[in-house]
Amino acid sequence: MKQRINRKLGLISLIAIVATALGVTFFCYGLFQSRVKTDLRLFASLLKEAEIFRAEELNDSISDHELKALDPDELRITWVDRDGTVLFDNETDASALPNHRNRPEIAEAFAKGSGEITRRSDTFNLNTYYYAVLLEDGTVLRVSTQARNITSVFLSALPVIAIIALIILLCCILISHMLTTQLLRPIEEMVENIDGSNPRAAYKELEPFADKIRLQRENILASVKSRQDFTANVSHELKTPITSISGYAELIENRMVEGDSAIHIAKQIRHNANRLLSLVNDIIKLSELDHTELKRVFEPVDLYKVAGESIKDLEGTAISRNIILSLSGRPCTISGDPSQIREMVDNLLQNAIRYNKEGGKVEVTADTHKGHPHLVVKDNGIGIPKEHQDRIFERFYRVDKSRSRETGGTGLGLAIVKHIAEIHSGTIELKSAPGEGTEITISF
Ligand code: ADP
Repeated sequence: MKQRINRKLGLISLIAIVATALGVTFFCYGLFQSRVKTDLRLFASLLKEAEIFRAEELNDSISDHELKALDPDELRITWVDRDGTVLFDNETDASALPNHRNRPEIAEAFAKGSGEITRRSDTFNLNTYYYAVLLEDGTVLRVSTQARNITSVFLSALPVIAIIALIILLCCILISHMLTTQLLRPIEEMVENIDGSNPRAAYKELEPFADKIRLQRENILASVKSRQDFTANVSHELKTPITSISGYAELIENRMVEGDSAIHIAKQIRHNANRLLSLVNDIIKLSELDHTELKRVFEPVDLYKVAGESIKDLEGTAISRNIILSLSGRPCTISGDPSQIREMVDNLLQNAIRYNKEGGKVEVTADTHKGHPHLVVKDNGIGIPKEHQDRIFERFYRVDKSRSRETGGTGLGLAIVKHIAEIHSGTIELKSAPGEGTEITISF
């Protein structure tokens, strides 16, 4: 990054230097050119006013010889007769020169009173500026001078420009290096301290970045902790039935089981094996739900129909506990995974039966309210004390451990319900009072 900033700043300063050098050269050259032209005009008008050139012969006040002594490189003077014949030239013998009538600046002077032109000579990097003026007697006087052209001016200034550019460039590189070091130091410090509990943003603009990192770390830590807790809980939950099964197997192995107790022990082994099975099943379901990257194919699912099927399947268990199940509402369809929705309704219904009392009631309602389908499972069972209500959706959280275990609970039922509701963008509402009952509503 440092290198990139330095390179960019270097490039920008180089462009700025070149642009400035070019701009200044063009501007100064423009001034220089107009100065040359003004001087020529001035010379011409002075010579005209002095009336040195008159009626085909030079004025007495200045001799041909004196004019010839003028350096033609500095100022060339050409006097042209009305027909274009050159009468005088301080550079070349006038008689050797061709007719000048058609020279653009002279033709213009004959026509308009004055004319000017600049001729470029690529070979010598020089420009020749001509200015011609019509005299009182109808002859034309032309003055001209040579001056360097822009390429030549620029080329001669190039070494100076290059040295200045180099100095400025070095200064820019130095300043940009200092600036980037200064600018990046707080960011580098922030990166070094990123593992700290509260990474502080080096600049106000980086605060959202620091917040995001903070949030991500909190999430990672929370997820690691919940995974560790989950693994510990799973191991603990699996250990109990396995220990029981192993103990009973040992009794049989040592021939310590006889008669009716053999049946009792077989029952215990089956009970513990079933518990293990339920646990493993619930863990598998949860891990499937945890795979958020799995593509979910949703289809229309009628909540009322699913609730009816679930009630039918659990009716036997309910009757054995003398609990009455009822269903009300009307068909209402959501978009979802049918097996997951069934799992969710089963879990809610099982809990309503499991944590109910002799002769209790469970009412299931599937309906649509203000365009939102919802499912309500209401019982008049033992209820949940206020202080536990926030936590019962956590994995392995149980209000009464022994009651849950005795009735075949794994402590994962509501965690699965919560997960499924989230996948289906459903919200859960819990109303419960100890001794009065519990009502759980899932709205989609
Ligand atoms: P479990 O397998 O133990 O039923 P859940 O996750 O389904 O696990 O429920 C967590 C705990 O919430 C239960 O152990 C129980 O204490 C409480 N609970 C759940 N549903 C009800 C209900 N309808 N009435 C009273 N308590 C409930």
